[in-house]
Amino acid sequence: MLIVRAVERRGQVRFLGQTFPLRQQGDLLWTLLGVPIEADLGLRTAEITLQDTDGQTTQRVVATTAVVAIERPVDYLVVTEEVQSLLTPQAIATEEQLRVKEFAAFDPESRWGKPFIQPAPGPVSTQFGSGRSVNGGPVGGFHSGADIANEQGTPVVAPAPARVAFVEDHPIRGLSVILDHGAGVKSGYHHLEVALVKPDDLVEAETPVGRMGTSGYSTGPHLHWEVTVYGVNVDPFTWTKTAFRP
Ligand SMILES: [Zn+2]
Repeated sequence: MLIVRAVERRGQVRFLGQTFPLRQQGDLLWTLLGVPIEADLGLRTAEITLQDTDGQTTQRVVATTAVVAIERPVDYLVVTEEVQSLLTPQAIATEEQLRVKEFAAFDPESRWGKPFIQPAPGPVSTQFGSGRSVNGGPVGGFHSGADIANEQGTPVVAPAPARVAFVEDHPIRGLSVILDHGAGVKSGYHHLEVALVKPDDLVEAETPVGRMGTSGYSTGPHLHWEVTVYGVNVDPFTWTKTAFRP
């Protein structure tokens, strides 16, 4: 989280090649910066640009932050030929097109005020950021969310207030609900058996949004839970500990 105290009421931050808009709250400007899991380690700069009401740039400030490594275990997946056959170049391309659409726009105002609640009961079967090895193959890619395992049909609820942004089928993530919490923050509920909301519904924390399933590229009933900051995947379970609000 980056907080700026300034007389200006608008601005943006350039960080790791991406632009994050600053939002006004009282006499503060603030934003959340998502650090991609594959970001290079070390000191990185965030360039903060502020504008006056006429849109003229009045200040440019550079802040430095360190990108540090967090060790994650490797997840050794055993995948049947039938499930593995879902991972075609066409499926990967379609999934990517859906993701581009889903992260093209963000509701401006933040709707959440408290840490998120865990959206489904059950143990975490794969952590965010784990490397993956499929059927004994090389470790490649990173897990883009946190998996919560439980029985088919287990209720999945919203972790915080949001607007339902998308309800759609994905070739890999399966039947998915994507919530927009505002201020660049979205969360995704994937591999569902059924969705219980529709686009533009407003939900509160604990509103049921779907039921756990195993649709898409999945080896058994579980919830694949994602949290994104302006489209950058971050660890969902950091959101159950901190509100990430000024
Ligand atoms: Zn997953």
